[in-house]
Amino acid sequence: MLLPRLSQSAEAARAAALQAEFNEKKWVWVPDDKEGYLAGWVNKEEGDFGEIIMAAGGDFRRVPLYALSKMNPPKFDRVEDIADLTFLNEASVVHNLRLRYGSGAIYTYSGLFLVAINPYQSLPLYSDAIIQQYRNKRRDENPPHIFAVAERAWVNMGEERENQSILITGESGAGKTESTKKVIQYLAAIATDVHTSPPSHSRSPTLTSSSSFVSSMPTTGLPRNSSFRRAHNASPSVSGSGLTAKGRLGLLERQILQANPILEAFGNAQTQRNNNSSRFGKFVRITFAPDGSIAGANIDWYLLEKSRVVVRSEAERSFHVFYQLMAGGGTLKESLLLGGAIEDYEYLNKSRREVDGVDDLHEWSALKSALDIVGFTPAEQFDLFRIVAAILHIGNIAITSTRADDAIMPDPSQAERVCHLLGIPVAEFTRAVLRPRVLAGREWVSQARTRQQALDELSALCKTLYEKSFGRLVDRINEALDRPSSRSTFIGVLDIAGFEIFEINTYEQLLINYTNEKLQQFFNHHMFVLEQEEYAREGIHWDYVNFGLDLQPTIDLIEATGNAIGILSCLDEECIMPKATDLTFTNKLSGLWAGATGEDDEHPGKQKYEPARFAQGFLIQHYAAKVEYRTDGWLEKNKDPLNDNVTRVLAASSERYVATLFAEYSDLPVSSGPGGPGNMFTVTKKRGLKKGAFRTVGQRHKEQLASLMSQLQATQPHFVRCIVPNGHKKPGRVDVPLVLDQLRCNGVLEGIRIARLGYPNRLPFVEFRQRYEVLTPGIIPPGYMDGREACRRMVKTLDLDDSIYKIGTSKIFFKAGVLAELEERRDLLL
Ligand code: ADP
Ligand code: MG
Repeated sequence: MLLPRLSQSAEAARAAALQAEFNEKKWVWVPDDKEGYLAGWVNKEEGDFGEIIMAAGGDFRRVPLYALSKMNPPKFDRVEDIADLTFLNEASVVHNLRLRYGSGAIYTYSGLFLVAINPYQSLPLYSDAIIQQYRNKRRDENPPHIFAVAERAWVNMGEERENQSILITGESGAGKTESTKKVIQYLAAIATDVHTSPPSHSRSPTLTSSSSFVSSMPTTGLPRNSSFRRAHNASPSVSGSGLTAKGRLGLLERQILQANPILEAFGNAQTQRNNNSSRFGKFVRITFAPDGSIAGANIDWYLLEKSRVVVRSEAERSFHVFYQLMAGGGTLKESLLLGGAIEDYEYLNKSRREVDGVDDLHEWSALKSALDIVGFTPAEQFDLFRIVAAILHIGNIAITSTRADDAIMPDPSQAERVCHLLGIPVAEFTRAVLRPRVLAGREWVSQARTRQQALDELSALCKTLYEKSFGRLVDRINEALDRPSSRSTFIGVLDIAGFEIFEINTYEQLLINYTNEKLQQFFNHHMFVLEQEEYAREGIHWDYVNFGLDLQPTIDLIEATGNAIGILSCLDEECIMPKATDLTFTNKLSGLWAGATGEDDEHPGKQKYEPARFAQGFLIQHYAAKVEYRTDGWLEKNKDPLNDNVTRVLAASSERYVATLFAEYSDLPVSSGPGGPGNMFTVTKKRGLKKGAFRTVGQRHKEQLASLMSQLQATQPHFVRCIVPNGHKKPGRVDVPLVLDQLRCNGVLEGIRIARLGYPNRLPFVEFRQRYEVLTPGIIPPGYMDGREACRRMVKTLDLDDSIYKIGTSKIFFKAGVLAELEERRDLLL
């Protein structure tokens, strides 16, 4: 970085003073319940204990030595890559993140990860000037940034003609969706540039590196060396699409960006953790033509929290679109028979209605214009809102019961509104809800429903309607954006909830954690392969096998089919058993597992499960933690909850959109739009028989996840981990225990652990010699000497144990901590 001379030497003097002070004491991090870790120094050691003097306050603490973590020398403060730290312990990791965050540096690398801590304030980090600053630059030429990750993906894609993926995970509110938007913003901008300007050259940086040490000592980190690539030279395109004007995005780019407000209106909601919380996961692929311009985009979605349309906690809202429509719908509301205000609708009036800082009217206009830009016709838009309105009307259908506890609908006018909007006959609808025909033995009979059963049916209908319409919405966006072409490559961005452990963990958490277990397995494998490759390139023998990196036993436990039946298959089986309950399912699981506890040869460490504290539940050992799941309600959650009387009425709707949504239930094939969910099913069921035609929630997720994994496996991955700094949605404060928890769950600490198993710090021979030759005066004769030989002589003289270093063909590798010691020795001399 181009610091003025004066400040450079002032900086150096300051650093030297800090280092001298540091060298006087044996500094450590002391675990602290509240703060996570506190700084102190070892005053004396007695047996297994240390007497620590705390830096703040000067009081004494007696702490077991194993609980202490070594502190990195001050020159490591604010390193841009955690992997560069010489003491790679948890305390040092969070300390570094906290220091950086405090000075506005929300991004930090940790080996293969980019860690992003939610700033909870708008930072000037995303302007066009900053985009230009990251263009055609290597990772180490700029401070860590989400743009650098996007840039690297783009360059790798261009140079290697290989698909790329950017995997973004984190807790709710951590900043995943914002990061996803930044990636897409960056890609749209640079892909547009391809048409309009030659590659930019370095401009005066607007962001500066915060660490002088790291810039003076460039490539010690693990991945920095591993995939350096020449900057990509985008050839100015001659394609005359005419869509892009200088500095302006083309229609396709705008459509891709505008897909997002639509997805957010229908898929996001205000929750206690996040005012704009995505209630689904997504994988957005942007495809590029060989010249680097955007060729199209495609969105896959996962696990929409559809139950939110009917229930949620009092402090939260339903999906944004409900409030937006109510605020801005105008005459549209009349056509949708929405005469009332929010408080008149049962599905909206039991919980929060407004969100601080959110203007639903404004968001409504944004939604409408996004729909227009993406190309939804007025009729298509009406269909989307038709479903939203129908749900509100269904919520207002009053059901009472007779003395015999049979459900009745005292006032048919509400059902009439619903049926008008959904294009179905009210008599059939009412019968399907109140007295469906069921097969009793060989005969079809009408069976009266209780009030509760009828209400459950209605809410199930709303959830299904909403989810199906959401699916169709995404399909429609894909129709607008997807332009498959054989010569294109893609960058996929995955925005998906991270590992979850709540007070009570249920089926949703199992599916999320299962997903994360697979993603972590993918990461472990990737990191393992990269490390192996680097060691192999350098001719270093090192055995990586058996480091507990294989998460397959836990994954099998969840997804296996066949003899060693997994949780999901077991649940599916119970779902079609007559008289099965959540309890019979739970018992069946523990029965299956009872025989399988203890190590088996094929799967060492297979005892990953045990019965839970709860009567109904079990525990699973995930990579991140042991999690206890409660199985109440799982059968219902896994099944298609609608009775086929209702679905058949809807499949026969006179409104084409509605009929299409339920096509899979129809007696006759109903064609749905291209790629629509209806196409995934072969509609060959006979009347009254539904079994086998639909998939359970678990099956659907398993299949989608398998498809995601196979796509990811065919990409070069990049990993982003978003972090919530504190529980108040406020800037500034870092709650260390909270952050540590997340680092544990999101694999960052695991990545560090894996790195530490090997030789995480590495230097090219030349650099090693330049920096540390002062420690071995006279060992290397003047004149030329082979770099490898020079290093060999130096380490010998330095008296380093040969278990803590390895000499490769171009670099020297060190175990964690060795460099700090060399640094210390060097400081004593200089
Ligand atoms: P997630 O998708 O992980 O649940 P979001 O991406 O929706 O989280 O972020 C939650 C909120 O945090 C955003 O609405 C925004 O207010 C804030 N936020 C997240 N990332 C950033 C950022 N890079 N800059 C400014 N604010 C951010
Ligand atoms: Mg989100």
